[in-house]
Amino acid sequence: MSNSSGKNGLAVLVGAGPGEAGLITVEGRQWLARAEVVLYDRLAAADLLKACPTGTERIYVGKEPGAPARTQGDICSLLVEHCRAGKLVVRLKGGDPLIFGRGGEEADALAEAGLPYRIVPGITAGIAAGACAGIPLTDRRVASTVTFVTGHEDPAKDESAIDYDALARLHTLVFYMGVGNLPSIAEKLIAAGRDGETPVAVVQNAARPGQRTLVATLATVAEEARSADIRPPAVVIVGQAARFRERLGWMEKLPLWGRTVLVTRTRRQASRLSARLVELGANALECPTIEIRPPDDWYPLDDALDRLDDFDWLVLTSPNGAHGVVSRMRKLGLDGRCLAGIRIAAVGPATADVLRRSFIEPDLLPERFTTTALGEALTAELAGAHCRCLLARADIATPDLPNLLLDAGAEVEEVTAYRTVPPDALPEEALEALHSGTADWITFTSSSTVDNFMSLLAGEGLSLEGIRLASIGPVTSRTLGHHGLTPDAEADRHTIDGLIDALLATVQNEADGDQDQ
Ligand code: SAH
Repeated sequence: MSNSSGKNGLAVLVGAGPGEAGLITVEGRQWLARAEVVLYDRLAAADLLKACPTGTERIYVGKEPGAPARTQGDICSLLVEHCRAGKLVVRLKGGDPLIFGRGGEEADALAEAGLPYRIVPGITAGIAAGACAGIPLTDRRVASTVTFVTGHEDPAKDESAIDYDALARLHTLVFYMGVGNLPSIAEKLIAAGRDGETPVAVVQNAARPGQRTLVATLATVAEEARSADIRPPAVVIVGQAARFRERLGWMEKLPLWGRTVLVTRTRRQASRLSARLVELGANALECPTIEIRPPDDWYPLDDALDRLDDFDWLVLTSPNGAHGVVSRMRKLGLDGRCLAGIRIAAVGPATADVLRRSFIEPDLLPERFTTTALGEALTAELAGAHCRCLLARADIATPDLPNLLLDAGAEVEEVTAYRTVPPDALPEEALEALHSGTADWITFTSSSTVDNFMSLLAGEGLSLEGIRLASIGPVTSRTLGHHGLTPDAEADRHTIDGLIDALLATVQNEADGDQDQ
């Protein structure tokens, strides 16, 4: 189908999965990365939209509080309209598009209009709840069938489309949209002959950081879910399979489960730390406190790169510094060969990795990854010989390192490889976690993240009382001290992994302490 511009439109119904960005399919993500228009509902994983190119038109079609919701008809018309205009339209839907998602009606509208479409399956909430709560929906010992059921039916309706007599005889039942109707669902199943002692699990926010699982019996579940304040979205899993949860439930046993950690880093660097924390069960909220910008003037770095013969050592004290140098070399049409005659010192493995990506191997890495250790290692290396060091780093770096090198008899030329500026405000989610008291930890990976975070915080009139602080090393801890704060965990190895180890050890100690009491 081509429009007047001759370009073919295509609509792709993509299953987004249960609301954790990692649980979309590879193909789903690939379509998002090509989307010209994306139609989405309220997304649990807002991160998914980051996969879209910046120019993608994003159209929110979900319910807005206070505003009239778009009808299904409106959504179908939008899909048809954009597809007809020759666009690649992605319709992103929670879970699987065709499971209780009205995807069938959307595909129907496209088929009716004679427009091409594809459907990319997604992980539906019931499947996600089984895996993430440790409930095998089928298990040859207890369950040979699994049935997905809507719990949304009006309980007052005389004629149910759902045959409870049949359901009562089947093994695992997974109810969607059933929280509100839980009393009537349980009642009808019991009336149809299902044993009141049948185990039932209610999994709220399956696969997401706030996942909660309640296990009860058919006779007690309505009351227990009410007193535990279980809220949508949740699925209700009825059947013997639910009793495996106690043994096989794994997610809620992760070491940082249920903890909210604010990750204060630069945007470029934050993701690895967040990813590790999420892997350990935490709800990691990225809090950029520094924005990395290019220097006001590239001339000093360009000029230094133009006369590398003048230097014996290139000294890099951060991944951003290394990135600045490498990207500038590329801009100037240089490659790693221009560094053949110069030795390179890098502060730590992350800085070294930036170089290695350009096939440049540093000559010196200190044993401890601090600028002081770097200065000492270089001093030992120089052994009093005259030498010229090029120091490429942030515009506002402390004079400690150049002073150390000068004391060791070196000549030092400093150039700015990047600038750090504070952002205007903390992100919404982080502010909410601080205001509501749900933030448990804050991680700091440099002195400037501390200073910038504290000034952002002062603007909000917030305090850090009751929140644990993790620091990457003694320099960062000292800066915390300047703000009257003491870290609860300090990394022995001054890397992301070291920081995580220290945080985990503190959490573990506290848990052991709780048990002893
Ligand atoms: N198409 C979606 C379902 C949409 S209906 C899918 O395939 O998953 C909405 C219902 O899905 C909710 O009422 C709830 O029962 C369920 N649901 C969606 N996401 C969920 C989650 N992360 N945890 C538990 N239930 C969820």
